[in-house]
Amino acid sequence: MNLILFGPPGAGKGTQAKYLVKKLNNFQISTGEMLRNEIQKNSSIGRKIIDDMNHGKFVSDDIVNSLIEKTLNDPKKQNRLIFDGYPRSLSQAKNLENLLAKTNQNIDFVFFLNVDKEVIIKRIENRKIIENRSDDDLKTFIKRYDTYMATTKPVLDFYSQNSNFYEIDGASEIVEITAKIDNFINV
Ligand code: AMP
Repeated sequence: MNLILFGPPGAGKGTQAKYLVKKLNNFQISTGEMLRNEIQKNSSIGRKIIDDMNHGKFVSDDIVNSLIEKTLNDPKKQNRLIFDGYPRSLSQAKNLENLLAKTNQNIDFVFFLNVDKEVIIKRIENRKIIENRSDDDLKTFIKRYDTYMATTKPVLDFYSQNSNFYEIDGASEIVEITAKIDNFINV
């Protein structure tokens, strides 16, 4: 089973992805985590992207798409993918469609965790204390949220017409969101 967790930054995609990885024995595809790893390793990719990430800007499609392509081509991970933070633009959504077709895979479920900006701001303030992410300060968050509204939200139109698209109130408690997802995937 492949599924996409979709929603604004701070919607709880990562939390649900980690739960689903355990439940389904799948793999979390968090482009944000992959990119943070590159920065930690101080790799050539890491050095290129650090400024964009710290300012809440998108990393280039070339870099992100190549990380995704590697994952989709990995036979161990095929049909066991939980996308968290990808696709984030229409061009990435189209790239994903092409890669899925090439590797004979489908997306079984798209879950949209819908949460208001004010609720997320409260969460981000807590996450900053716990995880100490450099892009979780308020100014960067607002930039990331605006980018989401302008560039990522239109991707919803791309998916929302499909029968495998489900909107979930992302302001609910974590366990309630998990229960709703469980109910939809029904395994
Ligand atoms: P996240 O952990 O998903 O909140 O992502 C953290 C940051 O990584 C984002 O603000 C972007 O700078 C970068 N990033 C993550 N995923 C993508 C993506 N699909 N396309 C472009 N940039 C991304």
